Amino acid sequence: MSYNTIHINPISPEPAQGSVLVIYTGGTLGMVYESKGKQLVPFNFDQIIEKVPEISRLSFGITFLSLKEPIDSSNVNPAIWIELAGIIEENYEAYDSFVILHGTDTMAYTASALSYLLENLNKPVILTGAQLPIGVARSDARENFITALELAAAKTEDQKPVFSEVCIYFNSQLLRGNRSKKQESSDFNAFHSENYPYLANAGVQIEYNFPFIKPQEELAPLHAHKLLDTNVAFIKMFPGISEKVVQSILGIEGLRGVVLETYGAGNATTEAWFLESIRTAIEKGIVIFNVSQCDGGKVTQGHYQTSKYLKQVGVVSGSDITAEAAITKMMYIFSKENDVQKCAEQLGKPLRGEMSI
Ligand code: ASP
Repeated sequence: MSYNTIHINPISPEPAQGSVLVIYTGGTLGMVYESKGKQLVPFNFDQIIEKVPEISRLSFGITFLSLKEPIDSSNVNPAIWIELAGIIEENYEAYDSFVILHGTDTMAYTASALSYLLENLNKPVILTGAQLPIGVARSDARENFITALELAAAKTEDQKPVFSEVCIYFNSQLLRGNRSKKQESSDFNAFHSENYPYLANAGVQIEYNFPFIKPQEELAPLHAHKLLDTNVAFIKMFPGISEKVVQSILGIEGLRGVVLETYGAGNATTEAWFLESIRTAIEKGIVIFNVSQCDGGKVTQGHYQTSKYLKQVGVVSGSDITAEAAITKMMYIFSKENDVQKCAEQLGKPLRGEMSI
């Protein structure tokens, strides 16, 4: 596949040592108002240097690569996640770190998916974006972009990258990607990670939260997985959810797994039709993964009578995982494993720091 690329610092056709590969996918950060209209459309990424001249003063090399057609992240899909993982794999030896410019709407899904797809990742992959387009005076794009680059290039005393996982940088905080959620569509602090502390806080000084940063390890070479199984669905509990709705989702042909978004600590209605639908689905080989609708706290099946039955019939507890990390984890595990029991076991264990045990 061919991509548009430009190199800066130094201007050279080859990546410089210690350099960062920036992958531009689209999103608000790179949007401009179309000439006469009031609608935001993706801009040509060549203009990024014009818009952020500060990046040419950074001390490390930066190469820009743009997806052929930048997109609003609402159009992101598993094929794009696999493409991004493939770009990182192809360029893994040539660059020290990776920054992905991405729309905020699905950034937490992309960060989660990449955390699973990139097995043995030992370098930083930092996603960032903006709430206001780069061309707008009060835009958060410049700060988010420049600090994401600096964090990606951060090294320990022995010249190893400080971060070696998929992260999201937004509004002064670096978060573990598969613990993040978009929680704000108006304010600048768009992302939160309720169940895992920030990895770095960029105030006047950058404060690194070392006890929570994944340490550098001796790992086998990076392997980018190229498959995701989309035979998955969400069922979100709400008072009044009907048997018809639940049955029609669980009856989808080829369905392999459902993320069941429950109340509080993993609770759902105990109406007989619901419990029976869940039991029958599990018997048919559909894996049910229990994830709380609350952003903070975790699922504890059996704590209340309203979750005891779910545990008894074999619903897998998602502990404190986010819905974004849960659905992408299912896609990843199902693409590698056919055995239903093994899928259920793998879902219930942390794979990339996405959940606490
Ligand atoms: N709709 C945009 C996107 O996700 C919003 C953003 O970038 O903040 O691509």
